[in-house]
Amino acid sequence: QSTFKAKTKDPYPDWKAGEPVPYAALCTTFSKVEMTTKRLEISAHCSLFLRQVLRLTPSDLLPTILLMVNKLAADYAGIELGIGESLIMKAVSESTGRSLQHIKADQNEVGDLGLVAAKSRSKQPTMFKPKALTIQGVHKGFLAIAKIEGNGAQGRKVDGIKKLLSAADAHSAGKAIDITKDNGGPSEAKYIVRTLEGKLRLGLAERTVIVALAHAMIFHEFSQKGDKIPSTADLAIAESTLKSVYSELPSYEVIIPAMLEHGILNLPDNCRLQPGVPLKPMLAKPTKSITEVLDRFDGKDFTCEYKYDGERAQIHFVAHGAAMDLATKAPLAGKSDKGVSNIFSRNSEDLSKKYPDILAKLPTWIKDGTQSFVLDCETVAWDLVEKKVLPFQQLMTRKRKDVKVEDVKVQVCVFAFDILYLNGEALVNKPFRERRKHLQSAFAPVEGEFALAKYGNTSELEEIQILLEESVKASCEGLMVKMLDGPESFYQPSKRSQNWLKVKKDYLAGVGDSLDLVVLGAYFGRGKRTSWYGAFLLACYNPSTQNYESVCNIGTGFSEAILESLHTQLSEITIDRPKPFYTHPSGNKDQPDVWFEPKYVWEVKTADLTLSPRYKAAADEVGGGGKGVSLRFPRFIKERDDKKPDQATTSRIIAEMYQRQESVTKNKGPSIDDDF
Ligand code: ATP
Repeated sequence: QSTFKAKTKDPYPDWKAGEPVPYAALCTTFSKVEMTTKRLEISAHCSLFLRQVLRLTPSDLLPTILLMVNKLAADYAGIELGIGESLIMKAVSESTGRSLQHIKADQNEVGDLGLVAAKSRSKQPTMFKPKALTIQGVHKGFLAIAKIEGNGAQGRKVDGIKKLLSAADAHSAGKAIDITKDNGGPSEAKYIVRTLEGKLRLGLAERTVIVALAHAMIFHEFSQKGDKIPSTADLAIAESTLKSVYSELPSYEVIIPAMLEHGILNLPDNCRLQPGVPLKPMLAKPTKSITEVLDRFDGKDFTCEYKYDGERAQIHFVAHGAAMDLATKAPLAGKSDKGVSNIFSRNSEDLSKKYPDILAKLPTWIKDGTQSFVLDCETVAWDLVEKKVLPFQQLMTRKRKDVKVEDVKVQVCVFAFDILYLNGEALVNKPFRERRKHLQSAFAPVEGEFALAKYGNTSELEEIQILLEESVKASCEGLMVKMLDGPESFYQPSKRSQNWLKVKKDYLAGVGDSLDLVVLGAYFGRGKRTSWYGAFLLACYNPSTQNYESVCNIGTGFSEAILESLHTQLSEITIDRPKPFYTHPSGNKDQPDVWFEPKYVWEVKTADLTLSPRYKAAADEVGGGGKGVSLRFPRFIKERDDKKPDQATTSRIIAEMYQRQESVTKNKGPSIDDDF
């Protein structure tokens, strides 16, 4: 904050202590954030605003933070907006009295529906001044829209949006906005529409909001106590406390009330990992060879586990009567004689309706004395006759929702590889060797239903090679290599850590990992493929700019059946023009015939990576004189419906893969990655 001096005396004029926070005050902050790309300034604007919320209306802190991070609730609640462009256009048109034709023409000109809404609202003659929107009101309005389902849902959603838009920009009515010249300023309509689209496009990452919140809170606490302003060290402690609490318990609904009650530095005593609130899983770094593993873990004890090829699952359980402090309405859906349980996906989505069979069997694997736990596992399709693991494709044939135990045709076996919580105690900050002992003592494996991941503790190259071959024979993807002792072996929620390395069988000769890319557009097919799309434009994600950067055009690896089903799926999400946060390929002939909303993520393999003037992926990271990285001979592997578009492979990872490949081809030896 030292280099940036924003004015502190800037509360929104209509906002009085104890009254609901005006939504316009948040939009003013958003607009300031939008005007800069400097992270420190962004954080300072947010922190100053949050200090005002804390000073004037602390009870609104929770909805304020949720709107800032563009979430309506914790991920496990499964409440999402992401409303399609056509519904929003309809609502803008109906609420502002402009024709759909005009709205579409404006959208074609500027490509930002938020701006179009701002303009439409500003042009509207106002007979009476609507009641100003509040943060609480807007949050409730969004929640109500997200929860609408069933008959006539679309019409009712449009009504919900219209309600918000007709109350937007009460203060600035009549001041026309020229969207070709300005960016709409702090228009409420603009940010309402962008929230509905699922993207605020402010360059405001969630981790920046967390830092701003920690700073605001510690400033507030100091001023309440009449102390001087916090030092840089105080700010750093507050920041790391909040980050670590959030990584174990990613629920603002639990953390914010606790922070207001007990103070930020007392959060670790009041908010800990608990069954019912899924944490973001630890992720692994790819490696290209076993020797790279040996270099990385040189002299340290590590273990090589089979890398099962299924779906990641976090299983939570609390026995009836176990002494638990469930601060949240814990979504522990599965009930049995022994207790309540749930399964969460890699994205913290509730999988209880997909795997009721697992929840039903779970009590039989739990040893007496095991009262509560959180397990990190992989669910894998299981061949009941041959008694072995089946390929991933078999798992995909299972229904995704409302599965009935009696209808299950593909049996799954759960392979547990980590335990994060046991009998009231969080284990994330214990060495892996110790966690594994707990895993072994708390559960009783049942063949074909529940097993512990197979492993070997060796640092001999030849033995690792043998383990790798055995894992592949057992239908696994390869090995996960993990540190065993000391703080480096702690479980790091949500981190892609270099203390977990993945060695996949097909890395060994190729580029490294496969990539998970977002489908931005498609090209019409030729010859046999004329009825469907024949090729697609794919992009990686850049979390710093929040842009999707195009990286290749793909037409290989699709069967006709897949192309047909992709056509049906993708036709539903076409848009008239690319979103402003898409980085196009250059050159007219490379532009897709159709553009899509950013929704689907596909796993893709490539022969190698190359610098290209056409695609701009990772251009800033590789410094290739305006050239980006592109995939050569990309091949479609499968859809990744467990990943959201902003969880696609990042530009930074692509740059690292490219650089590693370059250093290997130049015989410089592989580089070692840093953590995110
Ligand atoms: P990402 O690309 O983000 O790393 P991913 O879902 O594509 O994730 P991989 O990169 O293939 O997955 O490898 C990590 C995944 O491997 C884990 O998320 C988990 O689902 C799975 N897995 C299988 N066996 C293990 C194991 N023994 N330890 C840890 N993860 C395992």
